[in-house]
Amino acid sequence: MTAGFHFTFANLEAQYKAALDAGYEILTCIDYVERRETLPERVIVNRVDIDLSVKKADKLREIYSRLGIKASFFVRLHAPEYNPFDFENYRVLKALRDDGHEIGYHSEIIDQAAIWGEDAADCLRRDIDVLNRMLEIEIKGAASHGGMTGLNNLDFWRDRSAKEFGLVYEAYNEGQEFGLFNTSFYISDSEWTRWKCYNKGARCDGDHRTFAEHLVDRHPLIYLLIHSDTYFDRHFYE
Ligand SMILES: [Zn+2]
Repeated sequence: MTAGFHFTFANLEAQYKAALDAGYEILTCIDYVERRETLPERVIVNRVDIDLSVKKADKLREIYSRLGIKASFFVRLHAPEYNPFDFENYRVLKALRDDGHEIGYHSEIIDQAAIWGEDAADCLRRDIDVLNRMLEIEIKGAASHGGMTGLNNLDFWRDRSAKEFGLVYEAYNEGQEFGLFNTSFYISDSEWTRWKCYNKGARCDGDHRTFAEHLVDRHPLIYLLIHSDTYFDRHFYE
């Protein structure tokens, strides 16, 4: 690896390998919901938000296939940056599905409601229908995307449950429905060039250790959020 570049696909693969070697079992979000009464001793819930690049998600698929692990991939439907139906992207999304990964909806419904003057609940129902129809699946989860509108897509869920929309969970829900963020050790790459972490919902200020560097702490339950867009083979601008 070139000195200084941490977020390479190769380095990410090595970190997952280290987690497996440390005895972690890697689950999807829906696996977590279904198994949370009897979780193994050490668990990583593996979430991937596809913010900008479906094509890079295919590189993650290859890594997961080599390591024999699964993830939950959350897909945007209104991103200016990608069309989920473009020839290559749709091929990749189907491959993710066919490899047994969970596909969920990366929600921007508050943004949609503000931009289009529509009801956010109607937008959500339509998007779930479209994603299900598109991939011939029945999605179980939504995760709120944090975009550039200044609005918070998570606000929608303050007084609503996933069940009302035929879903099982929203990925930041802090109640019985999912309750993972506030009960786990959360590690995310969402600052692009460095990691950040939260311990049971409280930010660990100044802790930018990598995913693998947290493994020595043997947290029983890790909620890992990565973005396909963050990683590269040689450099960020390739
Ligand atoms: Zn996002």
